[in-house]
Amino acid sequence: MGKVAVGTAVVCAAAACAAAALLVRHQMRSSGRWAKVMAILKDFEEKSGTPIAKLKQVADAMTVEMHAGLASEGGSKLKMIISYVDNLPTGDEKGLFYALDLGGTNFRVLRVQLGGKEGSVAKQEFEEVSIPPHLMTGTSEALFDYIADALARFVATEGEGFHLSPGRQRELGFTFSFPVRQTSIASGTLIKWTKGFSIEDTVGQDVVGELTKAMERIGLDMRVSALVNDTIGTLAGGRYSNQDVIAAVILGTGTNAAYVERAHAIPKWHGLLPKSGDMVINMEWGNFRSSHLPLTEYDQALDAESLNPGEQIFEKLISGMYLGEILRRVLCKMAEEAAFFGDTVPPKLKIPFILRTPHMSAMHHDTSPDLRVVGSKLKDILEISNTSLKMRKVIVQLCEITASRGAQLAAAGVVGILKKLGKDTVKDGENQRSVIAMDGGLFEHYTKFSVCMEATLRELLGGEVSENVVIEHSNDGSGIGAALLAASHSQYAEVEEP
Ligand code: ADP
Ligand code: MG
Repeated sequence: MGKVAVGTAVVCAAAACAAAALLVRHQMRSSGRWAKVMAILKDFEEKSGTPIAKLKQVADAMTVEMHAGLASEGGSKLKMIISYVDNLPTGDEKGLFYALDLGGTNFRVLRVQLGGKEGSVAKQEFEEVSIPPHLMTGTSEALFDYIADALARFVATEGEGFHLSPGRQRELGFTFSFPVRQTSIASGTLIKWTKGFSIEDTVGQDVVGELTKAMERIGLDMRVSALVNDTIGTLAGGRYSNQDVIAAVILGTGTNAAYVERAHAIPKWHGLLPKSGDMVINMEWGNFRSSHLPLTEYDQALDAESLNPGEQIFEKLISGMYLGEILRRVLCKMAEEAAFFGDTVPPKLKIPFILRTPHMSAMHHDTSPDLRVVGSKLKDILEISNTSLKMRKVIVQLCEITASRGAQLAAAGVVGILKKLGKDTVKDGENQRSVIAMDGGLFEHYTKFSVCMEATLRELLGGEVSENVVIEHSNDGSGIGAALLAASHSQYAEVEEP
């Protein structure tokens, strides 16, 4: 070996040594980082834990709160609002009715031609209109004007197959999916906005009055005959086709439940209308809260920074508006404290609500061996590239923890309702089916969520009882339901003789 050659070898060896040292240091650093990532994951998993015993406590707490909310006004976080719906659709309804569904990112307008017992729903049409974000936090006038305008345009396209009886005014069922203090079947005042809507000075506002004024401003002659929410609409729509429907649960942007209560079991109703029979109760269960709920630091921060801190805690654990945001918050912590995505925190990851539940669902359902969908979502939404398979697996685990916690809590809520109705046990000689009508984009599209929810429900109820409990997807029953309720509460409906 010549002198030059030796020199080169020494330099090379030194470089190799330095490189090896760097690699070792890098590995040590990255294994330290990785340990931190796993610690955050594990901690999140533990704090989110929903063992069966805990779910049973949640179900019991739901039942207790239902009793308390029915007993007195303000007796519980659960408002247990009397809907004034005591005549669910029978199938005899006839005529042309409209419905308007507001309460999420989109609103829908819909018309149905009802043909009575034989004809049922002879024809229906709907249109979906998105709400510009600035109207969600603007003035109520601007919001209602926009809605009335869309409704008027829709009415203008009324064509063949729809017949308004001569001399009649068009009637509308208004599905307004925000908490409302109902004052009659067709009137109510706003308790608060939720699901990202925040419009000042509107609490206590007469919701139907606002819509009616907006319709008058543009010369649309239409009467609101029923004011309901998506949950009651879904219950009514479900009942129309299946008389065993006893409750409805919405899992969409928000979450809520309604059920059919025996009127005599409603203490706060005393003196109001001493009528026997059934009454639909709008639980507003999104506002349920209990010390048994598995709240993590991420949930607490999400709540504190939300438009409605301290409220809608159950909804913030379960519904489509929040699941993706919870995931983002955990990823943020991993990025900040464990350099999960490298030395800097990806700027997009810091933007609240950038990661939507449909994105999360797409990642969660990724079945490709290299988790390609996870990779592409991270890239497209968060501008994070070069993620390893190991990292992608962590993200899928986070989706699993977040979604199954929500699904299991929703199942516990349903058990709470069944308990309240005494339908959580098998009674001798009774083989009555209990059908829960379900709707909402989360339930409909997030398969792992709905599968987990059903499995948990079965587990909580046990074999024998769960045979009689049926979860039924009532696809967009709420719009039809509102139209049906407008029909059964029509100003032209004959007054029945007692
Ligand atoms: P809304 O609740 O706004 O009336 P939907 O019932 O259609 O409307 O629910 C929409 C919500 O459903 C979205 O905000 C989203 O959270 C959730 N969602 C929609 N599509 C999916 C999906 N593919 N995977 C998971 N969640 C979804
Ligand atoms: Mg909806």
